[in-house]
Amino acid sequence: ERLYQAHVAAFSGEDRQVAVTLHDATESRRLEQMRVDFVANASHELRTPLASLLGFIETLLGPAREDTAAREKFLGIMLHQARRMARLVDDLLSLSRIEQTLHVQPRAAVDLAAVAEQVRDALSPLAEDSRVDLVIEARKTMVRGERDELLRVAENLIENAIKYGAPEPGGPERKVWITVEPREGVGVLSVRDEGPGIAPENIPRLTERFFRVDVGQSRAKGGTGLGLALVKHILARHRGRLEIRSNLGEGATFTARTPLFD
Ligand code: ADP
Repeated sequence: ERLYQAHVAAFSGEDRQVAVTLHDATESRRLEQMRVDFVANASHELRTPLASLLGFIETLLGPAREDTAAREKFLGIMLHQARRMARLVDDLLSLSRIEQTLHVQPRAAVDLAAVAEQVRDALSPLAEDSRVDLVIEARKTMVRGERDELLRVAENLIENAIKYGAPEPGGPERKVWITVEPREGVGVLSVRDEGPGIAPENIPRLTERFFRVDVGQSRAKGGTGLGLALVKHILARHRGRLEIRSNLGEGATFTARTPLFD
Protein backbone atom coordinates (compact mmCIF):
# COMPACT_ATOMS: atom_id res chain seq x y z
CA GLU A 1 0.00 0.00 0.00
CA ARG A 2 1.40 3.36 -0.98
CA LEU A 3 1.09 6.52 0.96
CA TYR A 4 0.28 9.79 -0.81
CA GLN A 5 0.62 13.26 0.57
CA ALA A 6 -1.74 15.75 -1.00
CA HIS A 7 -0.87 19.39 -1.43
CA VAL A 8 -3.55 21.86 -2.30
CA ALA A 9 -1.78 23.91 -4.91
CA ALA A 10 -4.44 26.25 -6.25
CA PHE A 11 -7.89 27.28 -5.37
CA SER A 12 -10.19 29.07 -7.71
CA GLY A 13 -13.29 30.55 -6.14
CA GLU A 14 -15.83 30.87 -8.95
CA ASP A 15 -16.30 27.29 -10.08
CA ARG A 16 -14.91 25.74 -6.90
CA GLN A 17 -12.03 23.91 -8.53
CA VAL A 18 -9.17 22.65 -6.46
CA ALA A 19 -5.85 21.50 -7.89
CA VAL A 20 -4.21 18.81 -5.84
CA THR A 21 -0.74 17.38 -6.41
CA LEU A 22 -0.19 13.86 -5.17
CA HIS A 23 3.26 13.13 -3.94
CA ASP A 24 4.37 9.57 -3.24
CA ALA A 25 5.52 9.68 0.38
CA THR A 26 6.07 5.96 0.90
CA GLU A 27 9.83 6.22 0.56
CA SER A 28 10.24 9.30 2.73
CA ARG A 29 7.97 7.76 5.37
CA ARG A 30 10.15 4.62 5.33
CA LEU A 31 13.37 6.64 5.66
CA GLU A 32 11.90 8.67 8.48
CA GLN A 33 10.91 5.45 10.28
CA MET A 34 14.45 4.09 9.81
CA ARG A 35 15.90 7.25 11.31
CA VAL A 36 13.56 7.07 14.31
CA ASP A 37 14.42 3.38 14.84
CA PHE A 38 18.11 4.17 14.54
CA VAL A 39 18.06 6.86 17.21
CA ALA A 40 16.01 4.60 19.52
CA ASN A 41 18.41 1.68 19.00
CA ALA A 42 21.52 3.80 19.47
CA SER A 43 20.15 5.29 22.69
CA HIS A 44 19.25 1.86 24.00
CA GLU A 45 22.70 0.45 23.14
CA LEU A 46 24.38 3.30 25.03
CA ARG A 47 21.97 3.15 27.94
CA THR A 48 22.77 -0.46 28.82
CA PRO A 49 26.50 -0.06 29.59
CA LEU A 50 25.81 3.36 31.09
CA ALA A 51 23.32 1.88 33.58
CA SER A 52 25.89 -0.73 34.53
CA LEU A 53 28.59 1.93 35.03
CA LEU A 54 26.29 4.02 37.24
CA GLY A 55 25.41 0.97 39.33
CA PHE A 56 29.06 0.12 39.94
CA ILE A 57 30.01 3.70 40.76
CA GLU A 58 27.23 3.84 43.36
CA THR A 59 28.39 0.54 44.86
CA LEU A 60 31.98 1.74 44.99
CA LEU A 61 30.96 4.94 46.72
CA GLY A 62 28.70 3.04 49.13
CA PRO A 63 28.73 -0.61 50.24
CA ALA A 64 32.05 -1.57 48.58
CA ARG A 65 33.95 1.48 49.81
CA GLU A 66 36.46 -0.40 51.97
CA ASP A 67 36.47 -3.66 50.02
CA THR A 68 39.73 -3.71 48.02
CA ALA A 69 39.05 -7.01 46.26
CA ALA A 70 35.57 -5.91 45.13
CA ARG A 71 36.96 -2.56 44.00
CA GLU A 72 39.52 -4.25 41.77
CA LYS A 73 36.87 -6.50 40.23
CA PHE A 74 34.32 -3.72 39.71
CA LEU A 75 36.84 -1.40 38.12
CA GLY A 76 37.69 -4.16 35.63
CA ILE A 77 34.02 -4.49 34.67
CA MET A 78 33.63 -0.72 34.46
CA LEU A 79 36.61 -0.44 32.14
CA HIS A 80 35.05 -3.08 29.92
CA GLN A 81 31.70 -1.25 29.80
CA ALA A 82 33.34 2.12 29.17
CA ARG A 83 35.33 0.59 26.28
CA ARG A 84 32.12 -0.80 24.85
CA MET A 85 30.55 2.65 24.92
CA ALA A 86 33.65 4.17 23.32
CA ARG A 87 33.55 1.59 20.50
CA LEU A 88 29.89 2.28 19.91
CA VAL A 89 30.39 6.05 19.78
CA ASP A 90 33.38 5.62 17.42
CA ASP A 91 31.31 3.44 15.09
CA LEU A 92 28.38 5.87 15.20
CA LEU A 93 30.67 8.78 14.35
CA SER A 94 32.29 6.84 11.51
CA LEU A 95 28.89 5.93 10.09
CA SER A 96 27.67 9.50 10.18
CA ARG A 97 30.91 10.82 8.64
CA ILE A 98 30.66 8.35 5.79
CA GLU A 99 26.99 9.13 5.24
CA GLN A 100 27.81 12.80 4.93
CA THR A 101 30.42 12.11 2.25
CA LEU A 102 28.51 9.38 0.42
CA HIS A 103 28.33 11.41 -2.78
CA VAL A 104 32.09 12.00 -2.93
CA GLN A 105 33.95 9.06 -4.41
CA PRO A 106 37.46 8.66 -2.94
CA ARG A 107 40.19 8.97 -5.57
CA ALA A 108 43.55 7.79 -4.22
CA ALA A 109 45.31 4.66 -5.48
CA VAL A 110 45.29 2.01 -2.76
CA ASP A 111 46.74 -1.50 -2.87
CA LEU A 112 44.02 -3.76 -1.49
CA ALA A 113 46.59 -6.55 -0.96
CA ALA A 114 48.69 -4.33 1.34
CA VAL A 115 45.51 -3.36 3.21
CA ALA A 116 44.53 -7.00 3.77
CA GLU A 117 48.08 -7.90 4.87
CA GLN A 118 48.19 -5.04 7.36
CA VAL A 119 44.89 -6.19 8.87
CA ARG A 120 46.04 -9.81 8.92
CA ASP A 121 49.13 -8.76 10.91
CA ALA A 122 47.09 -6.64 13.32
CA LEU A 123 44.54 -9.40 13.95
CA SER A 124 46.91 -12.37 14.15
CA PRO A 125 47.10 -12.25 17.99
CA LEU A 126 43.27 -12.41 18.15
CA ALA A 127 43.28 -15.24 15.62
CA GLU A 128 45.87 -17.15 17.64
CA ASP A 129 43.91 -16.71 20.88
CA SER A 130 40.76 -17.87 19.08
CA ARG A 131 42.60 -20.86 17.53
CA VAL A 132 41.95 -19.66 14.00
CA ASP A 133 44.56 -20.06 11.30
CA LEU A 134 44.56 -17.04 8.93
CA VAL A 135 45.49 -18.08 5.39
CA ILE A 136 46.11 -15.20 3.01
CA GLU A 137 46.68 -15.12 -0.72
CA ALA A 138 46.92 -11.52 -1.88
CA ARG A 139 47.96 -10.24 -5.32
CA LYS A 140 48.75 -6.60 -5.81
CA THR A 141 45.40 -4.94 -6.60
CA MET A 142 45.29 -1.18 -7.05
CA VAL A 143 41.82 0.19 -6.37
CA ARG A 144 40.49 3.73 -6.28
CA GLY A 145 39.74 4.56 -2.69
CA GLU A 146 40.57 5.83 0.73
CA ARG A 147 43.06 3.67 2.58
CA ASP A 148 41.67 4.15 6.11
CA GLU A 149 38.17 3.23 5.01
CA LEU A 150 39.32 0.16 3.11
CA LEU A 151 41.30 -0.87 6.22
CA ARG A 152 38.03 -0.62 8.11
CA VAL A 153 36.31 -2.89 5.58
CA ALA A 154 39.05 -5.54 5.76
CA GLU A 155 39.21 -5.26 9.54
CA ASN A 156 35.48 -5.75 10.03
CA LEU A 157 35.23 -8.71 7.66
CA ILE A 158 38.33 -10.49 8.97
CA GLU A 159 37.52 -9.81 12.61
CA ASN A 160 33.98 -11.17 12.11
CA ALA A 161 35.37 -14.28 10.42
CA ILE A 162 37.63 -14.86 13.43
CA LYS A 163 34.93 -14.05 16.02
CA TYR A 164 32.13 -16.05 14.48
CA GLY A 165 34.31 -18.67 12.77
CA ALA A 166 36.32 -19.67 15.87
CA PRO A 167 36.03 -23.30 17.03
CA GLU A 168 34.12 -24.34 20.14
CA PRO A 169 36.36 -24.89 23.16
CA GLY A 170 38.11 -28.25 22.63
CA GLY A 171 37.13 -28.42 18.93
CA PRO A 172 39.76 -28.61 16.19
CA GLU A 173 41.42 -25.43 14.95
CA ARG A 174 39.58 -23.63 12.14
CA LYS A 175 40.75 -21.68 9.11
CA VAL A 176 39.89 -18.29 7.64
CA TRP A 177 40.86 -17.73 4.00
CA ILE A 178 41.58 -14.21 2.81
CA THR A 179 42.10 -13.56 -0.90
CA VAL A 180 42.73 -10.36 -2.81
CA GLU A 181 42.88 -10.15 -6.61
CA PRO A 182 41.93 -7.91 -9.52
CA ARG A 183 39.04 -9.29 -11.56
CA GLU A 184 37.17 -7.67 -14.49
CA GLY A 185 37.65 -4.02 -13.55
CA VAL A 186 37.21 -4.49 -9.81
CA GLY A 187 39.43 -5.32 -6.89
CA VAL A 188 38.05 -8.28 -4.97
CA LEU A 189 38.64 -8.95 -1.28
CA SER A 190 37.13 -12.19 -0.11
CA VAL A 191 37.00 -13.58 3.43
CA ARG A 192 35.77 -17.12 4.04
CA ASP A 193 35.30 -18.87 7.38
CA GLU A 194 34.34 -22.33 8.63
CA GLY A 195 31.92 -21.07 11.29
CA PRO A 196 28.22 -21.86 11.80
CA GLY A 197 27.15 -19.84 8.77
CA ILE A 198 24.06 -17.67 8.44
CA ALA A 199 20.45 -18.65 7.70
CA PRO A 200 19.46 -17.38 4.22
CA GLU A 201 16.61 -15.25 5.59
CA ASN A 202 19.06 -13.33 7.79
CA ILE A 203 21.60 -12.56 5.06
CA PRO A 204 19.85 -9.46 3.63
CA ARG A 205 19.49 -8.05 7.16
CA LEU A 206 23.16 -8.33 8.22
CA THR A 207 24.08 -4.86 6.93
CA GLU A 208 21.21 -3.18 8.83
CA ARG A 209 22.42 -1.09 11.72
CA PHE A 210 22.24 -2.99 15.00
CA PHE A 211 20.97 -6.19 13.41
CA ARG A 212 22.60 -9.26 14.96
CA VAL A 213 21.62 -12.89 14.52
CA ASP A 214 22.39 -13.41 18.21
CA VAL A 215 22.58 -10.23 20.30
CA GLY A 216 24.06 -11.95 23.38
CA GLN A 217 26.82 -13.59 21.35
CA SER A 218 27.65 -10.36 19.50
CA ARG A 219 27.91 -8.42 22.80
CA ALA A 220 30.01 -11.14 24.41
CA LYS A 221 32.43 -10.84 21.50
CA GLY A 222 32.59 -7.06 21.83
CA GLY A 223 30.39 -6.34 18.79
CA THR A 224 28.42 -3.16 18.26
CA GLY A 225 26.14 -4.43 15.49
CA LEU A 226 27.37 -1.60 13.27
CA GLY A 227 30.37 -3.23 11.57
CA LEU A 228 28.65 -4.52 8.44
CA ALA A 229 26.53 -1.37 8.11
CA LEU A 230 29.79 0.54 8.06
CA VAL A 231 31.27 -1.84 5.47
CA LYS A 232 28.23 -1.41 3.25
CA HIS A 233 28.38 2.39 3.47
CA ILE A 234 32.11 2.56 2.80
CA LEU A 235 31.76 0.33 -0.25
CA ALA A 236 28.81 2.39 -1.51
CA ARG A 237 30.96 5.51 -1.27
CA HIS A 238 33.64 3.67 -3.27
CA ARG A 239 31.01 2.67 -5.86
CA GLY A 240 31.64 -0.91 -4.82
CA ARG A 241 29.50 -3.49 -3.07
CA LEU A 242 29.41 -6.30 -0.55
CA GLU A 243 28.24 -9.81 -1.35
CA ILE A 244 27.44 -12.38 1.34
CA ARG A 245 27.17 -16.08 0.64
CA SER A 246 26.35 -18.58 3.33
CA ASN A 247 24.23 -21.46 4.46
CA LEU A 248 23.65 -22.74 7.96
CA GLY A 249 26.43 -25.11 8.92
CA GLU A 250 28.57 -24.27 5.92
CA GLY A 251 30.60 -21.24 6.97
CA ALA A 252 30.28 -17.85 5.32
CA THR A 253 32.00 -15.90 2.54
CA PHE A 254 32.01 -12.12 2.51
CA THR A 255 33.22 -10.53 -0.73
CA ALA A 256 33.94 -6.83 -1.16
CA ARG A 257 34.29 -5.51 -4.71
CA THR A 258 35.48 -2.04 -5.53
CA PRO A 259 36.56 -0.37 -8.79
CA LEU A 260 40.21 -0.65 -9.88
CA PHE A 261 42.41 2.39 -10.18
CA ASP A 262 43.05 2.61 -13.93
P1 ADP B 1 28.73 -7.25 15.30
O1 ADP B 1 29.36 -6.09 15.99
O2 ADP B 1 27.56 -7.82 16.03
O3 ADP B 1 29.73 -8.28 14.88
P2 ADP B 1 28.32 -6.76 12.45
O4 ADP B 1 27.54 -5.68 11.79
O5 ADP B 1 29.77 -6.84 12.14
O6 ADP B 1 28.07 -6.57 14.00
O7 ADP B 1 27.63 -8.14 12.11
C1 ADP B 1 26.23 -8.27 12.29
C2 ADP B 1 25.86 -9.72 12.62
O8 ADP B 1 26.12 -10.55 11.49
C3 ADP B 1 26.66 -10.34 13.75
O9 ADP B 1 26.15 -10.01 15.02
C4 ADP B 1 26.51 -11.82 13.44
O10 ADP B 1 25.28 -12.29 13.92
C5 ADP B 1 26.48 -11.86 11.91
N1 ADP B 1 27.78 -12.20 11.30
C6 ADP B 1 28.72 -11.34 10.85
N2 ADP B 1 29.77 -11.98 10.33
C7 ADP B 1 29.52 -13.30 10.45
C8 ADP B 1 30.22 -14.51 10.11
N3 ADP B 1 31.42 -14.47 9.53
N4 ADP B 1 29.61 -15.70 10.40
C9 ADP B 1 28.39 -15.74 10.99
N5 ADP B 1 27.67 -14.65 11.33
C10 ADP B 1 28.22 -13.45 11.08
